[in-house]
Amino acid sequence: MSVDDEARLLGGLPTGLLIGGEWRDASGGERFDVLDPSTGSVLVSVADATPEDGIAALDAAAAAQDAWASTAPRKRGEILRGAWQLMQDRKDDLALLMTLEMGKPIAEAAGEVGYGSEFFRWFSEEAVRITGRYGVNPEGSGRTIVSQHPVGPCYFITPWNFPLAMATRKIGPALAAGCTVVVKPAELTPLTTLLTARILEEAGLPAGVLNVVPTTRAGALTEPVLRDPRLRKLSFTGSTPVGKRLIAQAAENVLRTSMELGGNAPFLVFDDADLDAAVTGAMLAKFRNVGEACTAANRFIVHEAVADEFAERLTAKVAALKVGRGTEDGVGIGPLINRAAVSKADDLVQDAIGRGAEVRLGGGPVDGPGTFYAPTVIDRVDAASDILRTEIFGPVVSIVRFTDEAEAVRIANATEFGLVSYVFTKDLARGQRMIERLQTGMMGLNVGVISNASAPFGGVKQSGIGREGGAEGIHEYLDTKYTMTPSPFA
Ligand code: NAP
Repeated sequence: MSVDDEARLLGGLPTGLLIGGEWRDASGGERFDVLDPSTGSVLVSVADATPEDGIAALDAAAAAQDAWASTAPRKRGEILRGAWQLMQDRKDDLALLMTLEMGKPIAEAAGEVGYGSEFFRWFSEEAVRITGRYGVNPEGSGRTIVSQHPVGPCYFITPWNFPLAMATRKIGPALAAGCTVVVKPAELTPLTTLLTARILEEAGLPAGVLNVVPTTRAGALTEPVLRDPRLRKLSFTGSTPVGKRLIAQAAENVLRTSMELGGNAPFLVFDDADLDAAVTGAMLAKFRNVGEACTAANRFIVHEAVADEFAERLTAKVAALKVGRGTEDGVGIGPLINRAAVSKADDLVQDAIGRGAEVRLGGGPVDGPGTFYAPTVIDRVDAASDILRTEIFGPVVSIVRFTDEAEAVRIANATEFGLVSYVFTKDLARGQRMIERLQTGMMGLNVGVISNASAPFGGVKQSGIGREGGAEGIHEYLDTKYTMTPSPFA
């Protein structure tokens, strides 16, 4: 990718609010800058939506709801499928844009285009498979009809770490189900969502079905939208503390909610594991997305008998990672999203070192422009360390050791989170026991990446409510209605 590619892409981006099919300035006339985290320089500025713009977006979504709900499912699916195709045609632009605004290496951004766009293709296929059932009550006196109906206008709040996939994972099933949408992307990464909205327009999405309101005032814009009785659904991906606040706000109107919240994933390596597979899986589970993933392995829980060998092999691979701007060849680790993220990761590492952790590699920020943190491996982390309780969101491996299976399960479950767990063992029965005993919404058994559009993504405990993707994903956007009718033979 050249500097010219970047200038052409940024110069052609939509940077207004999308409301009711029009790209507009914010009602307050303000704009905000989007920065490149690898240099700190301004990429472009976008319109800064006011709370009034949020309500105008909901007006548009509410006005478009009935017509979209009664659009034939095949037609809704074809628009989504068309958008998927356009995303393939523009995959280089989408990947470059994500690397520019978020920092991840370009190869990973290209991977996210594949993963994220797949939610449009997958749900284009699900749109025509929304079914119900017809049954006889046990008494034989009645016939029950169960039908599915779009929930209605939805409000989506997305995070910065997967700017494409976290939006498409919600937009795809909502549009397939017949719901209209207002999206508030993360302030740090609004550009990918704006380009995705333009692509959906090009694919033929009618005005008002999707509205996008980037803003620097997330709370102030969100509150009146959630209070408005026309809104029927909130879907949020982000941190658990913000999610809890939103659940409380959504309670006022008894809104349906889907919550994809934080994680604290254990990565268990048993003494019978294939260590090559475990190290490969560890690199993916930890360093994908610069460690800034809710699914990132946060705690490596390794059997004492193989811990030294696992740590040495993993450290050798981590030491070979090239740190740099995500657009450069061979870079495996881009910048963290901002200075606060660097400070947070470093505080966690220093706390662990202060409690006796052994530093095998790295252990601090990288000097220079941009917000980089050195790939780090710390071993023999003390159980009281903050790093074992907190999402690190950076390229840091922290290793604790165990001696028997029950202890491994106890350590893994000792967290209020329950998003994903990784388990490496060659023993099938042990793998099955882990499926039953680990408190988790998802598990990688001898694999380091679990995300897939065909699978129900989501957590238990404080990692969230609801599922995105798979056959389950569309049900987040459908209400079940049941009708009792008399027996036709009465
Ligand atoms: P965050 O601070 O919770 O922000 C997420 C989104 O919420 C952003 O769009 C943010 O807007 C908005 N927001 C913040 N305060 C708000 C408020 N009072 N009212 C309405 N919206 C508000 O999380 P983040 O740092 O961007 O993302 C990282 C977190 O997301 C991690 O905890 C990660 O585990 C989680 N995550 C979970 C999943 C999953 O599927 N479970 C996937 C990816 C990420 P601004 O950008 O304007 O602040």
